[in-house]
This record gives sequence, C-alpha cells and structure tokens, in this order.
Amino acid sequence: MSALADPRPASPLDVERVRGDFPILSRRVRNKPLVYLDNAATAQKPQSVIDAVAAYYAAENANIHRGVHYLSQQATFAYERTRGRIRRFLNAADNSEIIFVRGTTEGINLVAHSFVRPRLVEGDELIVTHMEHHSNIVPWQLVCAERGARLRVIPVDDAGELVLEEYEKLLSPRTRLVALTHASNVLGTINPVAQIAALAHQHGVPVLVDGAQGLPHLPADVRELGCDFYVFSGHKLFGPTGIGVLYGRRELLEAMPPYQGGGSMIQKVSFEGTTYADLPNRFEAGTPHIAGAIGLEAAIDYLNQAGQEHLAAYETELLGYATGALSQVPGLRLFGTARDRVGVLSFTLDSAHPHDIGTVLDSEGIAIRAGHHCAQPLMQRYGVPAMARASLAFYNTREEIDALAAALHNVNEVFA
Ligand code: PLP
Repeated sequence: MSALADPRPASPLDVERVRGDFPILSRRVRNKPLVYLDNAATAQKPQSVIDAVAAYYAAENANIHRGVHYLSQQATFAYERTRGRIRRFLNAADNSEIIFVRGTTEGINLVAHSFVRPRLVEGDELIVTHMEHHSNIVPWQLVCAERGARLRVIPVDDAGELVLEEYEKLLSPRTRLVALTHASNVLGTINPVAQIAALAHQHGVPVLVDGAQGLPHLPADVRELGCDFYVFSGHKLFGPTGIGVLYGRRELLEAMPPYQGGGSMIQKVSFEGTTYADLPNRFEAGTPHIAGAIGLEAAIDYLNQAGQEHLAAYETELLGYATGALSQVPGLRLFGTARDRVGVLSFTLDSAHPHDIGTVLDSEGIAIRAGHHCAQPLMQRYGVPAMARASLAFYNTREEIDALAAALHNVNEVFA
C-alpha cells in the first residue's frame, strides 16, 4: 500500500498549533511554502526563544559574575538559572557538572584536551564507532597522534546498527575511553548507550556520549544512560547557535586541568603562579554566550511544556510515514534501517547525484542536506561519496513528506 494513502489516524499532537510557534515556518522560499527538512543540521527556533534572547539584550544586558550592579546580578541570575534547568533536563547530580561551551564540537575537544590527553601514553587506545560525526573522531585523532595512541572502531552492520560482539572484543586494558554518538546524524540509529556504558565500566573505562542528534529527539537521563560525559549543541535543540553543554561527572571534572585560561576561571593570579576556580567556572574562561544560555533555557522550557515523550511519539510516527513514502520512489536507496531510529532519512537516487537532488528540491522550497554529512568514514562504509538527507522535527507534517516524495519523483523525471 502506498504510504501516501496510509490510513493510520493522525497523531494527537496539534502540529498546526506547534508550527505557529515557529515564525520561520510560515515563510516562503523560492515562491513556495518552506518545507524545512534539514533539522539535523540546525533546528528552527520557537518565538519564545527569540523573545528570550531579545529581552535579554533589550532589558538585561550586562556581563555576569563580575558586576555588583543590578543588571549584572540579573544577568548572572538568569545564566545560573539556566545551568540549573539543564541539570534537571539531563538529571545530572549537581549544577557544577554542567559546563557551558560553544557546542558539541567544543565540548568534545575540551574532554580530549583536559581529560584524555594527560592520561594517554603510547600504545593506549580510544574506542569510537564507525558512525561518528567528524567532531567525535578528529579531536581523538589529534591527541592520539601526539601521544602515540590509536583509535579502534566499532563496526556498523548493513542495517546501521553497531556490532556489539566486535565492541566487546575491542575493550582491553589499553582502552582509555569509549566515545559514541547517542543517535547517528546519517542513519538515525539510536545506539544502546546504557548497555555500551555498562560494558565499558566493567573494564573501568569512562564513556563520552555525543548527544548532538540524540537530545533533540529523545529525553536523556545521564544517570540512567550511565555515561561519564554527555555533550550537546543548543542550536540543534531549538535554541541559539554558539551555545552548548558539556555534562561531566563531578569526580572526573574535578581531576581535570583547565581547557582555556583567562578571566572567570581563576581563584588568584600572580606572576609567581595562578590557582583556578572551582567547578564549573574553571572550564568557562572569558565572557560566555550569556544570551545563548538564556535562549537555551527558553528552548528547554518549550520542550518540557510540550512534553518530550509526546513530541518523540509524533516524530516516530512521522518517520514511519516518511520511510513508507520514500520507499515508493523508484531507484531510491535508504541508508539506515535500524530498529530504533530518530527522524533522519539518508538516501541516494539512481538517477541523480545528491547535490543535484538538493538543488532540484531547493527550487521547490524544500530544504534538505546533500554531501558527506561530516561522516566520511561512514560514506566509505556504504561505498558512496555522498548522500541526500531529510531530517525531521516535531513541527514537520505528512503534507511536507508528501511534497518531498513528489519532488523526488520529479527529480527522477528531470534526470531520466
Ligand atoms: N555530532 C553530531 C552527531 C552531529 O550531527 C553534529 C553536527 O551536525 C556535531 C556533533 C557537531 O555539532 P556542532 O557543529 O554544533 O558542534
């Protein structure tokens, strides 16, 4: 049966009302209604996030932690309140375990520099998976090259799931860290993080989870997952760009040297020697992205109010619909058919290169991604140089999926 004629009842989520919260979704692109399916690259922002950032600049702008004056106290209060909000969102044990960074990339680099690098000696190993984004590969390669250590890679099977038997074989007394993505930005696969972390801990190995693609779709409880570090980017979570979070277990963070030096991260400075501030300030040198943190708080409030589980249920249903619709397109190969997936659909068409697909879709007002998705090893694994990718959020609709499918049929005709 055609997915376009799918008789399943519509989700109880009032998606039209939700869409009304995101002003950009009502704009037109190339004289067509915007169909935004590039959410894995960055998600759109609800009005409440835009308002929170604007209100900070309009009425509260001041630097934090330093001023005795009213506005500085207000800004500090809002910034620290956000830290508490994120602690609850991730179910971390303490506010000091929440470090503001620029995004996932910076969070991983911080851990590579301050946690892994000082502990790494020649012959040591770090374990990653074959489905990692470059930002969860290259920082580890940099420290490995410096210390004579090496990366080991958990393979991915044809469906896009990790081969766990191989993972078990890779764990050894030489392993210093396991770093893996919560959800793949290419395949959509949701990895069994709790299981992987439990195995690593049996060997005394800490685990870092890249939550860039997980958290926008799934609630993440760092204590249930059992991870030691969890990183994510605000802009993929319906918040501002330039702000992200590194969660780290207090015990580990406390033993780590600073990542960057500067203002705010010190206790006392003299030319004879400097002592460093306690957590979390030790890892937040310089003026942070205050407006970004405040906007991120608004984004988390939005998700909490809507109910993350509720949004995820809607998205899962939409993913099923989209998978059905795309499978009707002749010559389309879908990558990633794991049992547990978030709303990411990467594909190729026999008729056209992914960049040509993206260009034709763009002329219809449909925004998708085309390229290697910062996951070149995974492209090599599947033997393709590039893929097209449609990635969903809870504000996407069946009508938009229908528009995508129709446009792909059109691509086939254009390039026939
Ligand atoms: N990890 C994954 C799985 C991603 O998809 C991305 C971005 O696409 C990143 C890390 C990097 O995120 P950022 O560029 O926000 O640091």
